[in-house]
Amino acid sequence: MLTWLAVALLAGALSLTLRWAMRRRDALGRPHPFPLVSVLLLVSLGAGLLVPVVRHHRLEGRLSDVASALAGAPVVVHCQTAGQQFVDVGAELGYVRYGADGVPERATLIKRAACSDLSSYLRSDHDRPSRDQLIAVHVLSHEVRHMAGTTGEAQAECEAMQRDAAAARLLGADPQEAWQLARGYWREIYPRMPDEYVSSDCVAGGALDERLESAPWAETAPALP
Ligand SMILES: [Zn+2]
Repeated sequence: MLTWLAVALLAGALSLTLRWAMRRRDALGRPHPFPLVSVLLLVSLGAGLLVPVVRHHRLEGRLSDVASALAGAPVVVHCQTAGQQFVDVGAELGYVRYGADGVPERATLIKRAACSDLSSYLRSDHDRPSRDQLIAVHVLSHEVRHMAGTTGEAQAECEAMQRDAAAARLLGADPQEAWQLARGYWREIYPRMPDEYVSSDCVAGGALDERLESAPWAETAPALP
């Protein structure tokens, strides 16, 4: 929507310029002045509207790279736009659609607020993430598990928690900061999650423990690459 408006404004500037170039003189041979003010106005408005569009695409590109590294395969992260947010009634912070065959798609939509939290986390010093940033990093990690093929919520949640540190690391945190973030989610947020996201097997030594170095219940900070 914003893109089309920006393109329309820039096209307007171009058509004014072309019209001027084709008829530089009137019937009496007098020169037409170049419509400088109108063209400048249209170009600056159009370019101004493109700034958030470009930022949005750059964020999606960066998050897709992180998600692909976590999934071990190319996946795509879409960030919800303002227009999509306006008609959105869902409470979840992100989702992955499942195909007719029940297989999750290799693309996810992260809600606008969570994407904005991921953006601010990327730009932060990663030392003291806000609660919202911490949750947003986990949401990305959780949706990656669906894109990697896990369909059950409790299993996806547990797999994600064991990879939250890796996600934070890919988003710019150092190994210690990344591990602290993963432990923060495990201690503070996970116990408050709805029942369908929680499993008694998601503990150290439990059936869902993948014995990853980056598990939040590990004794020491992982040596993340
Ligand atoms: Zn899920």
